[in-house]
Amino acid sequence: MIPGPFVYHRPGSVAEAVGLLASLGEEARPLAGGHSLIPMMKLRMAMPEHLVDLGGIAALKGIARDGDDVVIGATTTQAELLKSDLLAAVLPIMRETSAVIADPQIRTRGTIGGNVANGDPGNDMPGLMLCLDARYVVAGPNGSREIAARDFYQAAYFTALEPGEIVTAVRIPVPPTGHGFAYEKLKRKVGDYATAAAAVVLTMAGGRVTSASIGLTNVAPTPLFAEAASRLVVGTGLDAATIRAAAEAAKAIADPATDGRGTAEYRREMAGVMVARALAKAAGRAKG
Ligand code: FAD
Repeated sequence: MIPGPFVYHRPGSVAEAVGLLASLGEEARPLAGGHSLIPMMKLRMAMPEHLVDLGGIAALKGIARDGDDVVIGATTTQAELLKSDLLAAVLPIMRETSAVIADPQIRTRGTIGGNVANGDPGNDMPGLMLCLDARYVVAGPNGSREIAARDFYQAAYFTALEPGEIVTAVRIPVPPTGHGFAYEKLKRKVGDYATAAAAVVLTMAGGRVTSASIGLTNVAPTPLFAEAASRLVVGTGLDAATIRAAAEAAKAIADPATDGRGTAEYRREMAGVMVARALAKAAGRAKG
C-alpha cells in the first residue's frame, strides 16, 4: 500500500503554514506526526495533493506553565509529554494517558496537536481534554482564536476547525494541588485503541468530593464530557451506590458502534466499568 502522489511543503512559521493551507485550499492537509494521516493515505482513504509539514515550526513545540494554565505546543510528541517533569508535577493524568497510547514508536512521532485535531473518536487525548476543560489555540487566515475542547468535536472526523486553520497549542487549566486523577482504558492488547476509556479528575475535602469531571473515549462518534455523571458525585463520599449511579449516567450518554472490539451493548457496559474504576482510583489518589 503506497499513498497517492502529493507535493511536500515544509514551512518555517505558523504564518507561512496558514498561508500555504489557505492558498492551496481543500487539496492540502497539515502533516504532524503522520501516524493517523499517512496510514489513511496508504489506504487511499485520504488523498491530499499537498502536505504541509508542521514539524519545522519551532513555535509549535514545547510545554510551559503560563499562569493558571499549562500550554503545550501542537507538535509536542506523546513521548515528550511522558518525559515532562512539569506535567508529572501538575498534570500527572497527561502522562497516565500518553503511556497507554499506541506503542513507543508511535508515541515518538505522534503529536498532541494531531491527536486532538484528527477528530477520531478512538484517540485518547480528546476525551481527556474534555475532562480537563482544555482550550485549543487555533491560527487561520482570519487570525488566532481559542476553541473550548468541549465545543470542538461535532461528529467523527468533523471538528470546529475552519478551512485553513491549524491547532497551534493546547491550553489546560492546572487542577488544584492534591487532586485525584485516573485514566482507565480497556483495550484488547498493548497498542490498541480503546474498547472504552474514561478520564476522571476530582478534588476532595473531609472525605467528600468537592469537584469532579469525567471524559469518555471511543464510546460515541465523538469524545464525551459526562456532565451528569460528574455532577452526581459532587458532595458525596463516593460510596458504592454513588459510583454505580455515576457509571449508569455515563452509560446513558454512550452511543458506541458494534465493531471488532465488541458489540455496542458490551462497549456501553465497559464505559460504565471504566468510569467506576477511574472514580475509585482518582478518589484513592486525592488528598483531602
Ligand atoms: P497526523 O497523522 O500527522 O495528522 C492527523 C490529522 O490531524 C490529519 O488530518 C492532519 O491533517 C491533522 N493535523 C495534524 N496536526 C494538526 C494541527 N496542528 N492542526 C490541525 N490539524 C492537524 N492514538 C490514540 O490516541 N490512542 C491509541 O491507542 C492509538 N493507537 C494507534 C495505533 C496505531 C497502530 C497507529 C498507527 C496509530 C495509533 N494512534 C493512537 C494514533 C496516533 O496517536 C497518532 O499519532 C495521532 O492520532 C495523530 O497525531 P499525528 O501527530 O501523528 O497526526
